[in-house]
Amino acid sequence: MSYDKLTSSIFIDGTWREVNSEKTETIYNPATLKAITEVSYGGAQETEEAIQAASTAFPVWSEMTGRKRSRILYKASQLISEEAGRLGKILTEEQGKPLNESIGEVKGAASFLLWYAEEASRGYGEWIPSSVKSKRLLVIPKPVGVVGAITPWNFPASMITRKLGPALAAGCTVVLKPAPETPLSAIELVKIFERAGMPQGVINLVTGDAKAIGNAMLTSKEVRLLTFTGSTAVGKYLMRESADHIKKLSLELGGHAPSIVFEDADLDKAASLVLGSKFRNNGQTCICTNRLYVHESVAEQFTSMLKEKVEKLKIGYGLEEGIELGPLINERALEKVHAHLEDAVSKGAQVVCGGEKWDDALEGHFYKPTVLSAITDDMLIMNEETFGPIIPVQTFTDEDEALRKANNTDYGLAAYIFTENTSRAIRASEKLDYGIVGVNDVFPAAPEAPFGGIKQSGIGKEGGHHGMDEFLERKFISIGIE
Ligand code: ADP
Repeated sequence: MSYDKLTSSIFIDGTWREVNSEKTETIYNPATLKAITEVSYGGAQETEEAIQAASTAFPVWSEMTGRKRSRILYKASQLISEEAGRLGKILTEEQGKPLNESIGEVKGAASFLLWYAEEASRGYGEWIPSSVKSKRLLVIPKPVGVVGAITPWNFPASMITRKLGPALAAGCTVVLKPAPETPLSAIELVKIFERAGMPQGVINLVTGDAKAIGNAMLTSKEVRLLTFTGSTAVGKYLMRESADHIKKLSLELGGHAPSIVFEDADLDKAASLVLGSKFRNNGQTCICTNRLYVHESVAEQFTSMLKEKVEKLKIGYGLEEGIELGPLINERALEKVHAHLEDAVSKGAQVVCGGEKWDDALEGHFYKPTVLSAITDDMLIMNEETFGPIIPVQTFTDEDEALRKANNTDYGLAAYIFTENTSRAIRASEKLDYGIVGVNDVFPAAPEAPFGGIKQSGIGKEGGHHGMDEFLERKFISIGIE
């Protein structure tokens, strides 16, 4: 895919704005460090215009029948699926993940739209039997209004459709701000929505100064809901600043996922699953395993199984055949991963494999996949999200200790357990303080299921009918009759 020097990334009221060449953001391929293109750099002015366009389009879109909205979403889903190969390549170029993961993500992005295309025509209300004879009580769902959507770089396509799918199905209009590192997938998706027949003003795209764009969303009375995926720090800021207009919020924030391997697990299967969980997107997902607890009786055997598998992983440019691990997104990410490693080693951790920064043969932000043992609770890696390819292995002696350690965090997004004992699987799942628990499963995300964290990992759900509820108000109509 070749891009012109300048690519417009501001789309307001059905029109792509010409790029102001004085003020742009350069998009780099994190695997080669080469510039791909320069995109528009907007701010408060463009965001205010986008909000105005979304506000004007709201009555048109929300009063359309659900069936009609459904057809447009369905068409967009179909186009994305048909073009998964092309979109996947763009995604790999701007984000770095291996092409098969990118294509998988794009197909996942399409599946969110398909699922919400189906939901769009099911906006059921309620008829509540009244306790007095002279009344009829009705509850009807209504879309919340204009939505501000802010998305991260780790899933440049699917995080967008996971928000826009339910918002649009519910009848909301949207101003989207993608991550500055990965606007190209967002541009492609918006173009597909255009081709699918989305009326003007329903979806608007603004890139540029994150703080200014966010601030314009926060200070606008028109924006009734902010849906955000990103760091807990920015999530807290958005929550505080939303107070003035009492905006609704849906926040998918950081995680610090524990994986527990019990002594009765199928060890080989568990090792492959832990690998899948840790190294998907090179450790850069909020549900990646960050801490691994292994029962002391199997720890040595399990660690050497992990080492063997990790050493076989193929690192490199995501567009090349057979690559399993790409680069980290940027220098800052690389430095953070290395700081976690150095902190652990300085406190006594043993490097089982990896443990080094970039590979000389590769120019991008690469880090060798790493396994560490002799881990203690005081290490940074056991307390902060690493967002990179390091597995710290700590041992435990019994179930209670493992669960206590797993729950000892301010985060509460995803946790994983590996066991072949059904009673233990149920008992442990119930006791883990997390929004999502994977039992012998490390990919617990699906369009039909509610994804979301508790504690400082966020509020609200994405996916499932629960995800659509975020974008709906329930209006109560009380009717007095003769
Ligand atoms: P990360 O550090 O992983 O990039 P962030 O939370 O900083 O995570 O970024 C997630 C998204 O939030 C990105 O689209 C980013 O541009 C956006 N963002 C960052 N700061 C702000 C802010 N003050 N207001 C609105 N959006 C922001």
